[in-house]
Amino acid sequence: MNRGKLIVISAPSGSGKTTIAKEIMKRNPTLVFSVSATTRAKRDGEVEGRDYFYLTEDEFLKKIDEGEFIEWEKLYGNYYGTLKQEVERTICNGKHMLFDVDVNGGLSIKRKYPDACLIFIKPPSIEALKQRLFGRRTENGTATTRRLDRVPMELEKGQEFEHQIVNDALDIAVEEVQNIVQTHLHE
Ligand code: ADP
Ligand code: 5GP
Repeated sequence: MNRGKLIVISAPSGSGKTTIAKEIMKRNPTLVFSVSATTRAKRDGEVEGRDYFYLTEDEFLKKIDEGEFIEWEKLYGNYYGTLKQEVERTICNGKHMLFDVDVNGGLSIKRKYPDACLIFIKPPSIEALKQRLFGRRTENGTATTRRLDRVPMELEKGQEFEHQIVNDALDIAVEEVQNIVQTHLHE
């Protein structure tokens, strides 16, 4: 059986990556979403095992020590990581996977899985990004500012991704990402 393929979506926080990833999952029912582990608090509406595996910091650090992550990062004061066992089990069964990780995570996945397809989502402007991030109201002002601090680094590293999509009109961005996904899965 052929191994499943990997598609990674990264973006500065607030660019609309989760919104686009959810739409791509709806349109491609055979894709498996890579559920990451995190130490950040669960947001309203999020579900354990569907959005993330929510761990304590001690649990997360133990998994780092035991080599259970393909990659992990500390972002905005919390840990996030991709679990090796989840990914290997899925792709060994021939299933394709979609990853929603930060730019460094995306580049780490590419180093370990060179055939992975990397898609970077850009906001149309920094102003639009701020509006979306503050409009989402999932973080307080300080936490939102912390997310904005990383944007220049993310835009820089995003240039290393093979595909770059501007999320201005959502339906157009989804269509563009969908075309890339379909092409990659049928290559
Ligand atoms: P990310 O996962 O990149 O942090 P989200 O998907 O949570 O971002 O989107 C941030 C906010 O912006 C959400 O409130 C979402 O509804 C909104 N949003 C996403 N895409 C667009 C778009 N193209 N135009 C306007 N608002 C958008
Ligand atoms: P959020 O807290 O908004 O869900 O996610 C914050 C950031 O962490 C986003 O950029 C998201 O893509 C990233 N992220 C989520 N899971 C992982 C992961 O497993 N690894 C890495 N490197 N980043 C992740």
